[in-house]
Amino acid sequence: MKLAICPGSFDPVTNGHVDIIKRAALLFDHIIVAVSVNSGKKPLFTEKERVELLKSVLKPFNNVSVDSFEGLTVNYTAQKNAQAIIRGLRAISDFENEFQMALTNKKLQPKVETVFMMAQAQWSFLSSSVVKEVASFGGCITDLVPPLIEKRLKEKFSALHPGKN
Ligand code: ADP
Repeated sequence: MKLAICPGSFDPVTNGHVDIIKRAALLFDHIIVAVSVNSGKKPLFTEKERVELLKSVLKPFNNVSVDSFEGLTVNYTAQKNAQAIIRGLRAISDFENEFQMALTNKKLQPKVETVFMMAQAQWSFLSSSVVKEVASFGGCITDLVPPLIEKRLKEKFSALHPGKN
C-alpha cells in the first residue's frame, strides 16, 4: 500500500491545504494528514481543534485520515511505515526551507521520499497566517477557507476581541 503523510500546522486548514490533500489522495492509496505539535509555536487553534476541524473538512475523502504528532516528521513517517512526505510549494520563498528540510529528512531516513506538489495558481498566495490576519480585522475570507473554518475563525476572534467586528 502506498501511504503518504501530509504534515503541517493547519492553523487552520485553508482551501490551499485542501487542494494539495485532494490531489495527493489521487496519487496514493492512503494519506494521513498529520498536525505537527510544535511547542515553539503559539497556535490560534489547539491541537484538538485543528484535528477536529481537519476531520470535518476532509470527511468527503475516504482515503484520508487525520492524526497529530510531536517530534520529527520523518520519524513519525517511518513509524507509520509511510513511503512519502507530501509538501506543497507556493512561491520561491518556500523553496529554500523546504529543500533544506527534504535533504535533512533524506539523511535521517533514506527510505522516506519528500514529494513536492505545486500550489494551484489560485491558492499560491494563500497561507493560514494571511487568513488569520484578514479574519482578525473582520475581512472577508469566504473564498479562502471552507465554510466551517470561516465560522470558527469568526467565533474565535469575537471571543478574543469581544465587541469588535
Ligand atoms: P507548516 O508550518 O508545516 O508549513 P502549514 O500548515 O503552513 O504547515 O502547511 C502545511 C503544508 O501545506 C505545507 O507543505 C505547505 O507548503 C502546504 N500549503 C500551505 N498553504 C498552501 C497553499 N495555499 N497551497 C498549497 N500548499 C499549501
